[in-house]
Amino acid sequence: MDLYEHQARQLFEEYGIPVPRAEVTDSPREARGIARRLGGRVVVKAQVRTGGRGKAGGVSLAAAERTTRRILGADIKGHPVRTVMLAQPADIESEFYVSYVLDRAAGHFLAIASAEGGTEIEEVAATRPESVARIPVDPAEGVTSAKANEIVRAAGLPPRAADILMRLWQVLTREDALLVEVNPLVRTAQGQLLALDGKVTLDDNARFRQTRWGEEDERHDDPLEAAAAAKGLNYVKLDGEVGVVGNGAGLVMSTLDVVAGCGARPANFLDIGGGASARVMSDGLSVVLSDPDVKSVLVNVFGGITACDAVADGIVRALDAVRPTKPLVVRLDGNNAVRGRAVLDDRAHPLVRQATTMDAAARLAARLADTS
Ligand code: GDP
Ligand code: MN
Repeated sequence: MDLYEHQARQLFEEYGIPVPRAEVTDSPREARGIARRLGGRVVVKAQVRTGGRGKAGGVSLAAAERTTRRILGADIKGHPVRTVMLAQPADIESEFYVSYVLDRAAGHFLAIASAEGGTEIEEVAATRPESVARIPVDPAEGVTSAKANEIVRAAGLPPRAADILMRLWQVLTREDALLVEVNPLVRTAQGQLLALDGKVTLDDNARFRQTRWGEEDERHDDPLEAAAAAKGLNYVKLDGEVGVVGNGAGLVMSTLDVVAGCGARPANFLDIGGGASARVMSDGLSVVLSDPDVKSVLVNVFGGITACDAVADGIVRALDAVRPTKPLVVRLDGNNAVRGRAVLDDRAHPLVRQATTMDAAARLAARLADTS
């Protein structure tokens, strides 16, 4: 998960990395008060999870209230702006670049640093690769003062940047980040070093112990994905017409392939998980059936921990709750499959058909999507 700039800024501040004073708001009126508190002039910065905001019009030194209103209504490279950060403007003398990234192939971290900061580092690396230093960092040793000085020398950073490099390493390791980046790190006309813009990408596998950034920040732009996430479902919207529901990521992935093999296109990935209850099945089907692109639905469940009769109960519950207008093909096999099939036979819903194999079920679902 990528943090917003203001969250990265907050972390930097906690670890003693100098940052400009700043506040966040979603209100132009409030922006005026914040600007006053920060001493009058401010830089208004769109809080979106993408770089290159400056070039896209998302960073401005113009009047706080008016600029906040404009930026809050804007869309920065496909990201709607919901909040802005107002910061005390820095009087920039030079801009530098520093980051740590995980080099998965090499099995270590990489310090990337350059005396040519400000623009995106990919651009600098493409045009003037010799001005970008890349120094491996052994994760067990970390960024010692010797290592920090090595990075400073290799990139031509001001000597005092070494202290910031060591603190930035602490941010990376203690906060379970896969990437920390400061661009630009600036030297002000007053000779102070300041982290003017920050990016921090957290390791999602460590979310269980990095709870402070909250789930509510995970925004889904697709409304179906948002509805599924709200129900705690593992759902991904795709481009096709056959809705797919299964238990276990592997089985669902194979089901997508089999649907594609039948000449149809899956409309989604939905894994109801092992040990799925009737409620999860019912929640899942409601989401898939509410997708206007879906023309037929394939439910493919191989009961292991999941009992097929619970799945069938969930399907019946969903049929009553959602009142589908699209055909469903259900394949139940494994644990309690006979009971599960009987539940569906008893319900005898006119839109539900059963198949005994995955291939037969996928063929039928593909054909129904084609004709409905
Ligand atoms: P990004 O475009 O998303 O990377 O956003 P940044 O926060 O890095 O801002 C882009 C550029 O705007 C920086 O490289 C600076 O040149 C400029 N900028 C940002 N903050 C300030 C500031 O406080 N003062 C001045 N003079 N320029 C700033
Ligand atoms: Mn930047």
